[in-house]
Amino acid sequence: MENNKDWIKAGKIAAEALDYACSLVKPGASLLEVTNKTESKIEKLGGKCAFPVQFSINDLAAHYTASFDDKTKFKKGDLVKADVGVQVNGAIGDNARTVDLGNNKKLVESSLAALNEAVKIIKEGTKLHEIGSVIGKTISSKGFKPIKNLSGHLIERYAEHAGFNVPNYNNKDTTALEEGMVIAIEPFATDGSGMIKEGKKSGIYAIVNDKNVRDNISREILGFIKEEYSTLPFCKRQLLKQFSEFKVSFAIKTLIINGIIREYDQLPEVGKGLVSQAEYTVMVEKEGCKILTQC
Ligand code: MN
Ligand code: MN
Repeated sequence: MENNKDWIKAGKIAAEALDYACSLVKPGASLLEVTNKTESKIEKLGGKCAFPVQFSINDLAAHYTASFDDKTKFKKGDLVKADVGVQVNGAIGDNARTVDLGNNKKLVESSLAALNEAVKIIKEGTKLHEIGSVIGKTISSKGFKPIKNLSGHLIERYAEHAGFNVPNYNNKDTTALEEGMVIAIEPFATDGSGMIKEGKKSGIYAIVNDKNVRDNISREILGFIKEEYSTLPFCKRQLLKQFSEFKVSFAIKTLIINGIIREYDQLPEVGKGLVSQAEYTVMVEKEGCKILTQC
């Protein structure tokens, strides 16, 4: 990769911020407060959010970020996926862990074991279906199901999902890894049906088609988004630190209607099963891989 320093720094900050986030997830703690603290921590450490910090609870697998007025509190019994991404000059470290506030130790262990088994076989030449197969088998051997329509991904500068997916089951994809590639590996395990669907709107957006808008408000906010987030995901809560609610709501509506930004959906498990997740970002090497998201 062109400049490994940025990737190493982004990974380190992402890992430290994830540790910090997980230490704050306790029964009674406010999801919004923990989110704000984690995002401040990322900045203090010299990074930027690669996407809004996410805490997806129980049967929600991914894509929950706090709204600006979020009242959610973590509760005893919750299974919380903390997902933290950091960028340094567009180089991204993406990592996630599950905090168990209930009695789901085995489910949490199964996604983590799958991640660790996957890391063992990653090197130049490893085929994507081999990674998927190891992940799927590890989760099944613990009595759970991998979520088949969620996957890891190739990462490039300013591109969180840059090309191929890294499957969580044997999908027969014979694409081979190359030295220097940065990939996120993220097994999800569930006691439900093993699929997610599109749920409620998440309040998380990203630019999909950069073109001009006519009105001043939308143009001003689009300029800020491009400067601050480029094509990476952002949310309304982040924009409200700079602009009034009227301006932000107006601009988001206009930018969506014009096809300039799109909104992501929350991703609940189809069978309402509990979901655990574990994720590292790794760099592929000749004889193995380096876990970038480590403190
Ligand atoms: Mn992630
Ligand atoms: Mn990811």
